[in-house]
Amino acid sequence: MALSSIWVVAEPSNGTFTSTSLELLSHARTFSATVSAITWGEHGSDLAAVAGDYGATTLYDVGDVGDVLPGVPVASAIAALVASQGAPDAILIPTSYDGRDIAGRLSARLDRPVLTNVTGLIDEDGLITEHPAFGGTQIVKAHFTGEGPGIVVVRAKSFVAEPAGGASAVVVGAPAGDTGVTGGAKIVQSHIEERSGPKLEEAAVVVSGGRGLGEAEKYALIEETAKLLNGAPGASRAIVDAGWVPYSHQVGQTGKTVKPTVYIACGISGATQHMVGMKGSKNIVAINKDADAPIFQIADLGIVGDVHKVLPALIEALKARG
Ligand SMILES: Cc1cc2nc3c(=O)[nH]c(=O)nc-3n(C[C@H](O)[C@H](O)[C@H](O)COP(=O)(O)OP(=O)(O)OC[C@H]3O[C@@H](n4cnc5c(N)ncnc54)[C@H](O)[C@@H]3O)c2cc1C
Repeated sequence: MALSSIWVVAEPSNGTFTSTSLELLSHARTFSATVSAITWGEHGSDLAAVAGDYGATTLYDVGDVGDVLPGVPVASAIAALVASQGAPDAILIPTSYDGRDIAGRLSARLDRPVLTNVTGLIDEDGLITEHPAFGGTQIVKAHFTGEGPGIVVVRAKSFVAEPAGGASAVVVGAPAGDTGVTGGAKIVQSHIEERSGPKLEEAAVVVSGGRGLGEAEKYALIEETAKLLNGAPGASRAIVDAGWVPYSHQVGQTGKTVKPTVYIACGISGATQHMVGMKGSKNIVAINKDADAPIFQIADLGIVGDVHKVLPALIEALKARG
């Protein structure tokens, strides 16, 4: 292994780490001799067992960050760790709102560049990052030059999260120190979006709707089908931009990457920017009235038909199944 040390920013969520954090820990241990995790929150140190299970030997705990966005204290704590422990070969950060905030602030503190939108990491005499370009049709490879750690922001679902059964990580306190005026902004209100089924990124079945639905009200067909299949509803950017559904539903280059067991694309043409976010699905079903729609090129099962006829029939069949 050419890389001796990788740090992974592991975002806490509901008593564990986010799925992207677990994916990064799992992949990091395949090409680095030592993997350390950095987390925060009231119960950060309780996550030592999870961190160890996914390959980290040390868990740096920034502690409770109170009512500030984590970006400020976590970036400050990591910069302090680099100063006291020496720099790792790379710092891997999940692509998320907080992850991006941490990466930007850390870049300024360490005076090191950030590589973003990363979907692959290879050890070839040093760390090589892979980035999809031109709607995922080309892969660009990049690497860091100069001294200091590479800061790498990795997209969800780029790797598989797999526990390794390692011993609990050793917890080491990593205080943020004085963050000065940057720590002055406070969270005054937060809102958790209502959701009844599984998360879009984690669902085994995703049913997505596109412009072919015709009007916003018809998205109810997508929601009902997803619910009956215990899946999550997704969307193309066209209907997000049209204001039919929130951005959190968007699948694709500028939305979420999903890799469910079954992906059902309804009234979606199959633009490269959409396909880059779902082509890794195990089974792809497409419903489109245009037999030449590009989505059929990657579909395992194609239904040439009107979504307004096919979806109600599917819903009826699923209800009859019980
Ligand atoms: C920089 C950039 C980033 C982008 N990021 C994303 C992204 O993250 N995600 C994304 O989705 N897009 C993204 N896009 C937009 C993308 O290029 C397409 O415009 C978008 O995906 C099209 O959405 P759509 O398939 O719903 O609509 P359309 O392309 O308009 O396709 C509608 C489809 O519905 C079919 N249809 C119509 N009526 C029916 C019916 N009654 N029954 C069945 N089928 C019917 C039509 O045959 C057609 O194939 C991006 C674009 C750019 C430039």
